Amino acid sequence: MAGVIRRLDETVVNRIAAGEIIQRPANAIKEMMENCLDAKATNIQITVKEGGLKLILIQDNGSGIRKDDMEIVCERFTTSKLQSFEDLASIATYGFRGEALASISHVAHVTITTKTADAKCAYRANYCDGKLKSPPKPCAGNQGTLISVEDLFYNVSTRRKALKSPSEEYSRIIEVVSRYAIHNSGKSFAVKKQGEMVADVKTLLNASVLDNIRVVFGVAVSRELIEVECEDQKLAFKMKGYISNANYSVKKCILILFINHRLVESSALKKAIETVYTAYLPKNTHPFLYLSLEIAPQNIDVNVHPTKHEVHFLHEDSITESIQKHIESKLLGSNSSRTYFTQTLLPGLSASASVAKASSSADSQERVYAHQMVRTDCKAQKLDAFLQPCRPDKASSPPAAEPDDSELLSAVDELEPCASEDLQTDLQPPPDDEAPLRKRPHVEEVKDDLTAASLPRRRVIKLTSITELREDIEQQSHKGLQELLQKHSFVGSVSPQWTLVQHQTKLYLLNTTKLSQKLFYQILIYDFGNFGVLRLSNPVPLYDLAMLALDSEESGWTDEDGSKEGLAQYIVDFLKQKTEMLEEYFSLEIDGEGNLTGLPMLLDNYTPAMEGLPMFILRLATEVNWDREKDCFRDFSIECSHFYSIRKRYTLEPDAEEPQDAEMSWQWKVEHVLFKALRSLFSPPKHFSEDGSVLQIASLPDLYKVFERC
Ligand code: ADP
Ligand code: MG
Repeated sequence: MAGVIRRLDETVVNRIAAGEIIQRPANAIKEMMENCLDAKATNIQITVKEGGLKLILIQDNGSGIRKDDMEIVCERFTTSKLQSFEDLASIATYGFRGEALASISHVAHVTITTKTADAKCAYRANYCDGKLKSPPKPCAGNQGTLISVEDLFYNVSTRRKALKSPSEEYSRIIEVVSRYAIHNSGKSFAVKKQGEMVADVKTLLNASVLDNIRVVFGVAVSRELIEVECEDQKLAFKMKGYISNANYSVKKCILILFINHRLVESSALKKAIETVYTAYLPKNTHPFLYLSLEIAPQNIDVNVHPTKHEVHFLHEDSITESIQKHIESKLLGSNSSRTYFTQTLLPGLSASASVAKASSSADSQERVYAHQMVRTDCKAQKLDAFLQPCRPDKASSPPAAEPDDSELLSAVDELEPCASEDLQTDLQPPPDDEAPLRKRPHVEEVKDDLTAASLPRRRVIKLTSITELREDIEQQSHKGLQELLQKHSFVGSVSPQWTLVQHQTKLYLLNTTKLSQKLFYQILIYDFGNFGVLRLSNPVPLYDLAMLALDSEESGWTDEDGSKEGLAQYIVDFLKQKTEMLEEYFSLEIDGEGNLTGLPMLLDNYTPAMEGLPMFILRLATEVNWDREKDCFRDFSIECSHFYSIRKRYTLEPDAEEPQDAEMSWQWKVEHVLFKALRSLFSPPKHFSEDGSVLQIASLPDLYKVFERC
């Protein structure tokens, strides 16, 4: 609902310090963006020309402005947000003095087009020096407000001359908008130059803070962030945010600081935080931080300067110290263990069951600590829960020494259907605002000094071969397709192999198999040496896997190749020699007896379809060039990504029952795991635009033409 705009009381006016608000285009945009947010907009689109000096267009889908208020909206001290001076103490909106639009209209030509939900049409009006030029005219328009600011500072030549170049102004605009976009994650923001098709900053509806940091600052930093959150009742403040860990550093400190949802700067706080990091980062390098502080409104004085850039608060020193302590503990903790509730929530292993199991197996003399009951290695996510057959008799039986094919396959078949009731409630699809990769839901830090030192950090990989493979991916990247994938709307899965998405006015059919394979390949190359482990509950003999593969038609085995048994044994012996490397770089674990015990975890909530495992093992021995490092890493990643890719299921009967749990179905994986990752982690190669992996199947304008003819 649009608030009623009232004139501020004369006394309030006098008590509020007046001043200049609009020093440059970025300030104007910040003020207007805050108005959009105050109006509850969820979509804010900004278009500028000449760094905002020629034109700023800002459109939102907020409450709109009532027609009756359009007359005074640009007058000084008209606001719908504050009535008395006392209200200042509990101000929850950005704006409160009613100065922004007034100031802008004094230095530019302002046009407002706006429509409230209950108005029959939109209205448009022009403003000059705070005054409406002529009565608002009815016009067409969507709900929300479009404000156009033309020729900023046309009447203040000194200010205009003092400004930097349009490109400098534009980069300031990008900076302020992207910061608000990160802070207001979930709402979509876009900034572009007029005439350009592609936005320079664009965040999506329902994207998470991490998604948006990734979009704005890149994958490199987003992968090295630690979530922070603390609260102090006595000091009446809360803090949330993300800070870079000790593996990441930049030349200049980036501190994105919001206090009570206002973008502010605090050199004191910055300095205090930097001191904490000096112990962790190389000399002359700095961290990245996004911090959102909430301080009791009565402890904060927002009314310092009209730009509202400077925010002062009570207990500044104590709060700063408390933040320092928290950051320090997180930096230390990022090296130590974490407990993931997901562990206890895996199928067949309900929270209570795992606790019971842990305590019964523990020595009765010994106390069992929480971290001993649950997995404490943040890299391990066990596959056993998935492989555990539903039937209790099977679940408890030890692995047969020589499982026959049918048994192995039945374990494989049960990968999906075995989902239990616990899973339904516990393995919820991550809410939309969560990042797809390495984002671990339900994470709780456990102070665990015992394991603190033993757990690895993210390793920095400096192998030339990997650097080159990464460069190859980047060179191949197709920007248009990337944009399509980043900004698509998911329409639906046609089959495991084909997915429909929409981008702008076009409908596309995407080959999920090929896309997912390339995605996993890229993850293998980019996260090289840093994978978590999907651990198999029952080690699977490589020999059996190799035999299964050789028995299948796909292997193309003939008598001339020699006996299957001999070949299978050769494969086992061969792969056993590579164990160390496979484990260290790819988290593929093979035990001393030649059993496969673990696979790399490439995406959270994603396990490959196990029917592909035998061929994967066979092909590791036959298709990978193990002699040259680069070829080896590339070939391995190709084979592994082939195994992980989503394919049509060939071992299940066509009418085999779909798993009960939506989260275990391929549809869920495609939509919530794969396509989320494709949005943010993927550089599609150029050939996808030509080889039928991405097919445009309809264009709305063309469809309209068809309808017109009807
Ligand atoms: P303030 O935000 O301090 O109230 P402004 O000059 O920024 O003052 O805006 C004046 C008034 O105009 C606001 O109180 C609000 O009622 C209205 N307004 C401005 N922009 C918008 C918008 N995008 N959507 C809805 N109302 C708006
Ligand atoms: Mg305002």
